[in-house]
Amino acid sequence: MDHFPIFLSLKGQRVILVGGGELATRKLRLLRKAEAAVTVIAPSACTEILELVEQGVVGYQERKFKDEDLNGASLVFAATDIEEVDTAVSQAARQRGVKVNAVDRPELSDFIMPAIVDRSPIVIGISSGGSAPILARNLREKIEGLLPPALGRLASFADSFRGAVKGTITSGGDRRRFWENFFDGPVAESVLAGREVFARERMLGLINLNWKEKNAAGHVAIVGAGPGDPDLLTFRAMRFMQQADVVVYDRLISDEILDYVRRDADRIYVGKGPGNHSKTQDEINDILVQEASKGLRVVRLKGGDPFVFGRGGEEMEVLQAAGIEVDIVPGITAAIGCAAAAAVPLTHRDHASMVTFVAGQNGDGIAEADWSGLANSRQTLVFYMGVSKANNISAKLMLNGLSGETPVAIIENGTRPDQRVLPGKLSGLGELTENSAITGPALIVIGSVAAFARQQDLRQFATEYLENNKASSSEREVAVARL
Ligand code: SAH
Repeated sequence: MDHFPIFLSLKGQRVILVGGGELATRKLRLLRKAEAAVTVIAPSACTEILELVEQGVVGYQERKFKDEDLNGASLVFAATDIEEVDTAVSQAARQRGVKVNAVDRPELSDFIMPAIVDRSPIVIGISSGGSAPILARNLREKIEGLLPPALGRLASFADSFRGAVKGTITSGGDRRRFWENFFDGPVAESVLAGREVFARERMLGLINLNWKEKNAAGHVAIVGAGPGDPDLLTFRAMRFMQQADVVVYDRLISDEILDYVRRDADRIYVGKGPGNHSKTQDEINDILVQEASKGLRVVRLKGGDPFVFGRGGEEMEVLQAAGIEVDIVPGITAAIGCAAAAAVPLTHRDHASMVTFVAGQNGDGIAEADWSGLANSRQTLVFYMGVSKANNISAKLMLNGLSGETPVAIIENGTRPDQRVLPGKLSGLGELTENSAITGPALIVIGSVAAFARQQDLRQFATEYLENNKASSSEREVAVARL
């Protein structure tokens, strides 16, 4: 971390702003929000500054900067856009131990200004340490778009009830849960919608009511975490993960995704690998019911989508039968995530008018599948859990009339850094899986769109390219490291 982020209280503090043009005016607007006692020093100043001087809210010295101007100052901004002047201000400040910011001159600055999202009292500062200011600004715009405009009002509203809540709900853990419920609940929604009087009434009701009893039933969110890349989580999944008391997760959940779960949530691993059923489905169902019955917020985190070959349906039924409230949060299923990551347009107009997701692992399932229906050249097939049955799958499809020339692609560890895309033909599918040492989760895509499949990972692409071009291994390492 090159710059340490702090939020400075400038209320009533003497701040010197050297410069009277556009750069200085921009800083002045911010400094006024922080209620600093600003003095502008410049031989001339623009109208916006002069108007504020006239209103008596900003001090003004109509002359050049002198070192003594810094006496008693907390901060100084050099915003003249003239290099010699900014340098002189910076030197004087450093001699006197006054922290200085020279606009757009990091070498002359002790501190830099972040891009700011202001929903006071909520304030967000974003900095790239000066290395990529446009990226920081870009991020600011994104965050601006995410935050409701009345967020500041919500924070002030909550603040005004802090004492009352503390007085009524004495346990720290209970208070945290109370506030979590509040910020996600209908009262907060009314504040954001501008109905504050109504919200106040309801808030009093909420505090005085035995809210804990109301929530004692617990809650389970069955959350789809997508195929692996945390970027593919939904906002809703994130919210539930950050409020969880307990998270019950599968083998397909990566550490990167677990990082987004609230730190002090208990973690229960119930992974099921092929041939390695560490917990039966019944045991998992029991765990969910038990944890929720303690009054906890449980997140059942599943790879992909919970309702696509995820047994989310069974878990939902058991919880509902036990009278526990359940929310289902959809996730990007492996077929959709992998297709995007390997550039396979599943229903490209010229190639396919249907896409079918098939469970491959279950031997009976394979026997039962409507193979003549699947062997249709205008349809894309995506087999989940199909790698160990690849031979069988290709044989059945060809027997039912699908050409052995039909393109196929295996996508292993789709959307993850170690993604592999293995293209081939239907007739060679069994051999392809046998020769490829597949160890991660993998999908088989069959149909003419599979010909689009390609490795999108630049590193892998570069490694292969350089290998094909007989680069030495050190040349290869250097080139890959530079990507
Ligand atoms: N509910 C999950 C599927 C669970 S079944 C979903 O919607 O994606 C497990 C199978 O999903 C694996 O055997 C594999 O076929 C597929 N799968 C899950 N994640 C994958 C990934 N990142 N890359 C490729 N296949 C994946």
